[in-house]
Amino acid sequence: MFNSLSDRLTATFKNLRGKGRLSEADVDATVREIRRALLDADVAVPVVREFTAKVRERALGSEVNEALNPAQQIVKIVNEELVAILGGETRRINLAKNPPTVIMLAGLQGAGKTTLAGKLSKWLKGQGHSPLLVAADLQRPNAVKQLQVNGERAGVPVFAPHPGVSSEFESATGDPVAVALAGLAEAKSKLHDVVIVDTAGRLGIDAELMKQAADIRAAINPDEVLFVIDAMIGQDAVNTAQAFNEGVNFTGVVLTKLDGDARGGAALSVASITGKPVMFASTGESLDDFELFHPDRMASRILDMGDVLTLIEQAEKNWDKGEAERMARKFADQEDFTLDDFLSQMQQIRKMGSMKKMLMMMPGAAGMRQQLENFDEREIDRVEAIVRSMTPHERVAPKIINGSRRARIAKGSGVHVSEVNGLLERFGQAQKMMKKMAQGGGIPGMPGVAG
Ligand code: GDP
Repeated sequence: MFNSLSDRLTATFKNLRGKGRLSEADVDATVREIRRALLDADVAVPVVREFTAKVRERALGSEVNEALNPAQQIVKIVNEELVAILGGETRRINLAKNPPTVIMLAGLQGAGKTTLAGKLSKWLKGQGHSPLLVAADLQRPNAVKQLQVNGERAGVPVFAPHPGVSSEFESATGDPVAVALAGLAEAKSKLHDVVIVDTAGRLGIDAELMKQAADIRAAINPDEVLFVIDAMIGQDAVNTAQAFNEGVNFTGVVLTKLDGDARGGAALSVASITGKPVMFASTGESLDDFELFHPDRMASRILDMGDVLTLIEQAEKNWDKGEAERMARKFADQEDFTLDDFLSQMQQIRKMGSMKKMLMMMPGAAGMRQQLENFDEREIDRVEAIVRSMTPHERVAPKIINGSRRARIAKGSGVHVSEVNGLLERFGQAQKMMKKMAQGGGIPGMPGVAG
């Protein structure tokens, strides 16, 4: 996400490096580059104007003039101003004092509302809430079904209008306002503490759509109205956001499809233009591709300063404690590190999410973007296939894997013998390292890190 913007900005700052004092001409040249980078990334013109004016003013002021490293000081200013246009502080969901908390989703068709409903409900459930999804998108033929599928995946119940299924609410069928109200009543009676109402979108803004959304809003009086917007829609984002802001007066923004290579800059404009904060980011089609939006972390990613906090959170969330403890015990008992352990470690790493996505959060990742793009996620699948083609005995005593066994394993896992050889070699190195650590030498090359 924001790849080309990120590349352009880091290149601009590189030009400043090594300069002692910055002349007004240096500042102007830098600001000009920043302006071009933002415009090329589709950031809305008024937002760019305000942004660059602020950066210029600060860059010419004393904070840069008196700084030991003026170039770094400019990066700091751009970072702070980026955080500001992204909405400043991280904004969390306003939970109602008297549950249920009601969250309404609005946005154009295809923006990713239904997918988001599933992601948000799963995320809330993970935080100990008991959400109910309400299918009030009766426009798109498949929307109710799609929400039911997402609800099932998230393990969250869905309230949907179905003639005959719920006779009490049969009158609700066909009328989104009535469905939303019936959903709310259902949530109260079944003691759900959060209700997420999915509403209809159209391909473009139209008066009828907006009235329907406004009617639902008026009827259910939500605690949050989230405006869901596809980060790839370009300059149209501004008009769409303004129309929805006037129509339903949303309280927060959700950016979707941030995993695409779109320039994404229009999305950067939405918070600034509407004065409403970005609250969540959706970064893929799976229900777990979803994060709380932290303006400061996003700014760091754009400026290639890395997002180590998110990286650590991902690791903590997905790390299997039992498995980690099992490995630690193996170490302590000086047991042999086997191919099964090797495989299990790789699977642990994979559980943290896509390798590529994670590596992109490392500081300086922009410089390795090309190599990262070439990273093949299927490598771990191949390792798994190879290990699974070995007998249990081979996995604990890989020394017995001779030429004919290698050929058999390669055939069984559908790879070339050279890949089996490569895997065994890497395993051999890992095993050696594990042995050193188990003997109390710490991680080789890292003094002070005990094994
Ligand atoms: P709705 O019409 O607003 O309810 O949109 P949907 O939830 O049906 O999403 C439209 C399409 O976008 C579907 O094919 C989704 O799988 C896809 N989609 C939703 N969110 C994301 C995302 O964050 N990344 C990507 N790559 N695709 C997404």
